[in-house]
Amino acid sequence: METENYHMTPEQFRIEGKKVIDWIADYYENIENYPVLSQVKPGEIIEKLPLSPPQSGESLDQMMEDIDKIIMPGITHWQSPNFYAFFPSNASFPSILGDLVSSGLGVQGMIWATSPAATELETRVLDWLAGMMEMPEKFRSTSTGGGVIQDTASTSALTAVIAARERATNFESNKKGVQQKLVAYISTQTHSSLEKAIKMAGIGTENLRLIDVDDKFAMRPELLEWQIQQDKKAGLKPFFICGALGTTSSNAMDPLGKIGEIAKAENCWFHIDAAMSGTAMICPEFRHLMKGVESADSFTFNPHKWMFTNFDCDVFWIANRNELINTFSILPEYLKNKATESGAVFDYRDWHVQLGRRFRALKLWFVIRHYGVKGLQFHIRKHVQLAAEFANWISASSDFELFVQPPLNLVCFRLKAADELNLKLMNECNNTGKIYFTHTKLNNLIVLRFSIGQTNTEKEHLEMAWKLICQKAHEILN
Ligand SMILES: *Cc1c(COP(=O)(O)O)cnc(C)c1O
Repeated sequence: METENYHMTPEQFRIEGKKVIDWIADYYENIENYPVLSQVKPGEIIEKLPLSPPQSGESLDQMMEDIDKIIMPGITHWQSPNFYAFFPSNASFPSILGDLVSSGLGVQGMIWATSPAATELETRVLDWLAGMMEMPEKFRSTSTGGGVIQDTASTSALTAVIAARERATNFESNKKGVQQKLVAYISTQTHSSLEKAIKMAGIGTENLRLIDVDDKFAMRPELLEWQIQQDKKAGLKPFFICGALGTTSSNAMDPLGKIGEIAKAENCWFHIDAAMSGTAMICPEFRHLMKGVESADSFTFNPHKWMFTNFDCDVFWIANRNELINTFSILPEYLKNKATESGAVFDYRDWHVQLGRRFRALKLWFVIRHYGVKGLQFHIRKHVQLAAEFANWISASSDFELFVQPPLNLVCFRLKAADELNLKLMNECNNTGKIYFTHTKLNNLIVLRFSIGQTNTEKEHLEMAWKLICQKAHEILN
């Protein structure tokens, strides 16, 4: 006798799943035919979606038809090789497949016991990665620290600020609420997620100091030192400093060595935000940029930006995992188990804000095994080299100026004209649908940003982009 059942069978899944894989492969083969920046107006997508859900189930074919008809026009194609906006959020087929396996297994790896492989693979892959980037020994699980995958660099920033708060207050804030005298330090160029973390952790934005930067937009350590002394004289307690390995606006590299020395001398937690540029540390020739990492307490970077790993995947390394665990650990009766009690395992729910966690290490494992260290180095070097070539074209042009020498893969430049004309140039280029790039403000000027890090960007794409930019600039200037 059959019971009522609406589920898709494994046999149907086999058939439908292959169609979806084909659809994704077709998408990548044709991705350059779509306008990079979605051209829809607000409300245009929602208007096409029915007000109510279907009472009876529909076929996957119907759903895929609507993906093409309704959803695709509202997609901005982050995986297009002509995408240069904000920062990359690149992807790769091995990563997509790893994520699919993770979906297929559907495990929830909140603690070791809920899927030992989810925890142990994550531990090992992040140790691999620490080795690949030549991170100090203390960040490895075999030493005092270790790595944990978080959703974003923003969450890692919050995690670091909260752990720093507990260190500074001898784990009193956890019990009694936040003390009011703590002060944190970032630069004027630090990512907004740090300000947000300071707000959320109860430190208060009035206790956040924005240190001024030099002509390359890097933090000035002598001003940091001066500010800390002022705050101490005022009876405040400096507790947290964030240095950036690659700021968002201009990819500026803070002097991590000097900042680290100050952090040590002043007993401040030193967090390094390498969200965008950390990936480059896989190549030995770029590691001079992270000189000073030895004194960091925590370090974060996003494989989901530039390491061919689908969003979301942020790596957070901690030098002393006990500080993290003492801050975030909580053990209700319903989660008690032998493995946890034995102390022989990591329960990653004690390493961050959330309890539940996806098996994200799988996609990272697939990426590293597919490319190998050499393959990853090859593609990162290629992006950096393409950025250098693009910068040369700009320098050689009489209509444009290079705003800063690109340290890695982000090129900041300006049309030698008023701000409005720079924005006009950008909008006109983006409206062609052929490329997509964005702007920032530096020294009170509009600056155009070309962030080169999409998986499939090649020289021919950049040549096309530059030709388009020059042509539009010519029209605007004449
Ligand atoms: C992108 C970026 C962030 C924010 O990253 P999320 O993972 O989206 O939170 C923070 N800092 C820097 C330097 C970034 O480039």
